[in-house]
Amino acid sequence: MSTPDKNASPSAAPSTNFLKNIIEADLEARRFAGRHWGGQPGPASLHESGAPDPASIRTRFPPEPNGYLHIGHAKSICLNFGLAREFGGVCHMRFDDTNPEKEDQEYVDSILDAIQWLGFSWEANGSTHLYHASNYFDFMYAAAELLIGRGLAYVDEQSPEQMRANRGTLTEAGKNSPWRDRGVDENLRLFREMREGRHAEGSMILRARIDMASPNINLRDPAIYRIRFAEHHNTGTKWCIYPMYTFAHPIEDALERITHSICTLEFEDQRPFYDWLLAQLRDAGMFADPLPRQYEFARLNLTYVITSKRKLMQLVTEGHVDGWDDPRMPTIVGLRRRGYTAASLQMLAERTGASKSNSWIDFSVLEGCLREDLEEKAARAMAVLDPLRLQITNWEALFGAGHAEPCSAPAHPHHPDMGQREFRLTPELWIEREDFQEIPEKGFRRLYPPHVNAAGAAVEGNLARLKYGYVIRCTGCEKDAEGRVTRVLAEIVPDTKSGTPGADSVKVKGVITWVSASEGLPAEIRLYDRLFTDPQPDAGGRDFLEALNPDAKRVVQTWVEPSLATAAPGTSFQFERHGYFVADRVDHAEGRPVFNRTTTLKDSWTR
Ligand code: ATP
Ligand code: MG
Repeated sequence: MSTPDKNASPSAAPSTNFLKNIIEADLEARRFAGRHWGGQPGPASLHESGAPDPASIRTRFPPEPNGYLHIGHAKSICLNFGLAREFGGVCHMRFDDTNPEKEDQEYVDSILDAIQWLGFSWEANGSTHLYHASNYFDFMYAAAELLIGRGLAYVDEQSPEQMRANRGTLTEAGKNSPWRDRGVDENLRLFREMREGRHAEGSMILRARIDMASPNINLRDPAIYRIRFAEHHNTGTKWCIYPMYTFAHPIEDALERITHSICTLEFEDQRPFYDWLLAQLRDAGMFADPLPRQYEFARLNLTYVITSKRKLMQLVTEGHVDGWDDPRMPTIVGLRRRGYTAASLQMLAERTGASKSNSWIDFSVLEGCLREDLEEKAARAMAVLDPLRLQITNWEALFGAGHAEPCSAPAHPHHPDMGQREFRLTPELWIEREDFQEIPEKGFRRLYPPHVNAAGAAVEGNLARLKYGYVIRCTGCEKDAEGRVTRVLAEIVPDTKSGTPGADSVKVKGVITWVSASEGLPAEIRLYDRLFTDPQPDAGGRDFLEALNPDAKRVVQTWVEPSLATAAPGTSFQFERHGYFVADRVDHAEGRPVFNRTTTLKDSWTR
């Protein structure tokens, strides 16, 4: 497997986060001292009438409610809410719903649920900081009229094609629109007509009036309002003009008195417009210093994962996965169902820090975070994934018919407070098929029967310990007509029970896990693996569907330790030697256990 980011190993020291340095410097310089907060979003007049801001900084998480959140959003959530928590600030939860697209309540609910599950809250200082950008349309409209009044915006009637042609290129200045020098009154009249629905979609647009020759194309009179006869989930048909994202976002931040507006690097070129716009609106009296500032960080790229909403949607709608919460999906609901814990995602966000340069984080870093979290927290249990019957042939002679031998194991090897697991050894067991070899390969230390080796010498049947039970000696096996082993035969070596005096008098080189055939719990186990076989499935415009891993989900019907009968949905376990598993949140029920493999154990059991 490739390791694009060797420094990001789970044991590496927490990586640096340049945003923390910026905030520390801002607080040190008392850049926000004396700021007031009006109790709700609004213009300067509202905030100035309010009390001193109880929040040292304000950040925000601004998703569009048009899909399920994924691991990249988890990073942004941990960053924004985490910085606010660390520095005594507040993070606003803001639905960026200025697009008149159908907002789906399903997405809204799942976004709020994801944030709470990750351990964050938009409640602070006795108030709820849950906002909708569409509630700011009146302010945005007023801001546009302010710009027009100051000669800083104009209604352009060029066709979209003309506008594109006149925008220029990276090396060539743009050309002024013939409508650029209209008077304020005419611009105001036309803009109001646009709002009244008197002009067709695409026939005119409101543009900021900045500089068509700017080396930054984003400053070449960007569009700020467009006509769209679309119904909005919140404002209905009140509006037929809608603000462009680049115009709306800085205003949303300023209304909410955000101090640090953190976004991904693609927005770096937008920052000059962000600053230009807020400075104009401050000069016009709408906002006051200190204005919000935008900071860009490199988005999270994880190998074997795609985070494009469109492509995730395609996986769901084309049935490549079983829904948004399929445990193979990188959505927060999918990761959660797979068994990833909130703590492991927080750890990933902390370790990957915030940087200015794009890089790829290896998926194993996330797995490492999970193992580190669950190593301490998850109760242990035994499960057999590839079952083969084992029959103990001297059971009756040793214990008498009908006997079952009680065994006990700690729920966690280092945390006695987590209690003991009780189960019973019986004459018929399930063991892993890979724990038996009729003719052992070199170095094989688990069960094999008496045989003659390649050199012609007679070899005794091997000894191995049934974990938490007795040492057994393999005496033979039974096979079906195809020659496939159907049953392993073995004898208990008396006086070797784990935890009894003298148990170690017989030395063994292999320990095997097992589940009682008569008392084990039948369970469905879903063995998940990476969804893609390529570390960068959609790099270079490749068709990511070609890299789908056909073995990313394998379902086995098998047996687990009886103590798991009472496992609550969503509880994680370490299945000894196999990895971390979680009782499925959706399908697991008493009497019908279903476990998902979250990840394997780092170190392989095989020895
Ligand atoms: P869209 O293309 O629909 O805008 P988006 O991924 O930008 O998709 P938003 O709902 O706008 O989705 O994102 C909310 C926030 O999450 C934004 O601030 C965005 O920068 C951040 N975000 C999205 N993807 C990542 C990522 N991979 N790493 C870090 N932050 C991300
Ligand atoms: Mg976005």
